[in-house]
Amino acid sequence: MKCPYCGNEMREGKICAIGSGAALEWKERGEAFRLNTEPKMVAVMNGDCTSGYRCEKCKKIILEYE
Ligand SMILES: [Zn+2]
Repeated sequence: MKCPYCGNEMREGKICAIGSGAALEWKERGEAFRLNTEPKMVAVMNGDCTSGYRCEKCKKIILEYE
């Protein structure tokens, strides 16, 4: 995947929550949802991790949640 900011090739990896009961959560004003507990997502990844892409140049990480 190419970085949408600089066009550099991004590295594929995972964001993981470490520790028991840990969750990855997206928060916005008045809205929040857990990234690693959606049933559909848990089925395709191992619970506390979610796939993503990292740009070493921009220091940005892009996550997929579907
Ligand atoms: Zn970039």
